[in-house]
Amino acid sequence: MIIIDGSQGEGGGQILRSALALSLVTGKPFRIENIRARRKKPGIMRQHLTAVNAAVEVGSAHVSGSAIGSPELTFTPTALRSGDYHFAVGTAGSCTLVLQTVLPALILADGPSEILLEGGTHNPAAPPFDFLVGAFLPLLNRMGPSVKASLERPGFYPAGGGRMRVTVTPVRKLVPLQLLQRGRVVTQTARATVARLPYSIAEREISVVRKKLAWADDCLSVKETPDSSGPGNVLVLAVASEHVTEIFTGFGERGVSAETVAGRTVKEVLEYLDSGVPVGRHLADQLLLPLALAGGGAFCTLSPTAHTATNIEVLRLFLDVDVKVEQQDEQVWKISVGGKG
Ligand code: AMP
Repeated sequence: MIIIDGSQGEGGGQILRSALALSLVTGKPFRIENIRARRKKPGIMRQHLTAVNAAVEVGSAHVSGSAIGSPELTFTPTALRSGDYHFAVGTAGSCTLVLQTVLPALILADGPSEILLEGGTHNPAAPPFDFLVGAFLPLLNRMGPSVKASLERPGFYPAGGGRMRVTVTPVRKLVPLQLLQRGRVVTQTARATVARLPYSIAEREISVVRKKLAWADDCLSVKETPDSSGPGNVLVLAVASEHVTEIFTGFGERGVSAETVAGRTVKEVLEYLDSGVPVGRHLADQLLLPLALAGGGAFCTLSPTAHTATNIEVLRLFLDVDVKVEQQDEQVWKISVGGKG
């Protein structure tokens, strides 16, 4: 049995989700203690419980400790099953993070799957739907599977109520991914969306983008979504280059001005553009699992985050892989994943 200390490194939900994902793929059981010990409200929360329950279904697993607030969990998968699934978080908790838990197994399962997910689709501190379809899935699909996601209704924090559908055509073996160069920037677009909030919020965000990034006017847009259960605002900045598309998002928050939200997001884009790397910080921690499951691959990215460092540690517990992190210059790190020996 693999024993994991959930308080190690970054100490959040990702250790649990990555462990569940890797356990499903490898069939190796694990026990995790001190779950989310470094978070303000430690232990399993609703969104994590949904991820655990999803993994139990997909892996016909035996589980103990799967309850709200639980600091530990034991998970033993028995058989991986593709098929139709419906996972509902029940709060505004992120449904893309629930997907992150079961997707690595479903892209390697023995048949296609269709997953309906309900909860938050646009949450701070989680991959927003736009990042999933614009940045993550195109790279995953380059490794062999075909994963398509469609948004049926956006769900913003705190109301939730979002819905997305994902179809998965699996592969027997993932193809390693090499992403060392970004290539020429082809298009840059900005879209500010508001739901049940004044249109002017989105307009103010776009004017910050216009001023600070000087992107062409026909690449900037403002949108109102009428079908959200609650209020929300998201700014999505996309940089499409020859070899990769990166997506940066900012979320409107009560008490934070539209200018501040846009300014923070623009800053991330400027750092990315300036560094020349193909892979931004969030994509970096999320690409590690697929690369490790492919048994190889490499990418260049910005300075590794605690999420990236911790995900590497969790990978090493389940897979016999060698992960190298090398700084190449002031802003560029190369992360290589390879089989041992
Ligand atoms: P955790 O904090 O442990 O729940 O993990 C959060 C996950 O969401 C990590 O994989 C992050 O890279 C990812 N994430 C957070 N914010 C963003 C964002 N703006 N865009 C894409 N992914 C994100």
